[in-house]
Amino acid sequence: MATHDVPLPSNRRPQFPDRCVSCEREHPGNTVRLSVTGAGTTPGAAESMLDLALGSTAVSSNRRVTVEAPACVGCGNALLRRHRWKTFWLYTGALGGTLLLLLILAGGGSVWFGLAALAMGILAPVIWELRWPPGFTFTPAGAQITYEFRSERVAQEFAASNPVDSPKVK
Ligand SMILES: [Zn+2]
Repeated sequence: MATHDVPLPSNRRPQFPDRCVSCEREHPGNTVRLSVTGAGTTPGAAESMLDLALGSTAVSSNRRVTVEAPACVGCGNALLRRHRWKTFWLYTGALGGTLLLLLILAGGGSVWFGLAALAMGILAPVIWELRWPPGFTFTPAGAQITYEFRSERVAQEFAASNPVDSPKVK
């Protein structure tokens, strides 16, 4: 299932249509604040993990971007849960895979089997995200933030509300 992506310059405050970003309901009367850590440059995993542990962005050059989007209460809560799990898995997946690799090697197992476990730990959350995209998310990268909608309708209305450099819905 593909998402409908609308890229905007990161310094631009996005204007959302008065419609739930997840289920398309009009006038949801509620908003959800989602935070995503984006890469300013390419940070090392160790720095990112340290930042996560400290709850800071001091160690790496990661930027924490918060976007407030219209969503009904139920959809908003679901999106918040998704974002928490995504962050959790991005770190624990790699960490768990590494631990598994070490355990397998310590137990005299094959290096290739260990590496496969490590790869799975890193890839599992990525595959999950691609397979079941959330109703709405966004990805900061460099000077741009890509807003990703599962709903084509919301994506088109969002693009129409933010007519900068004629954003295209992919
Ligand atoms: Zn909704």
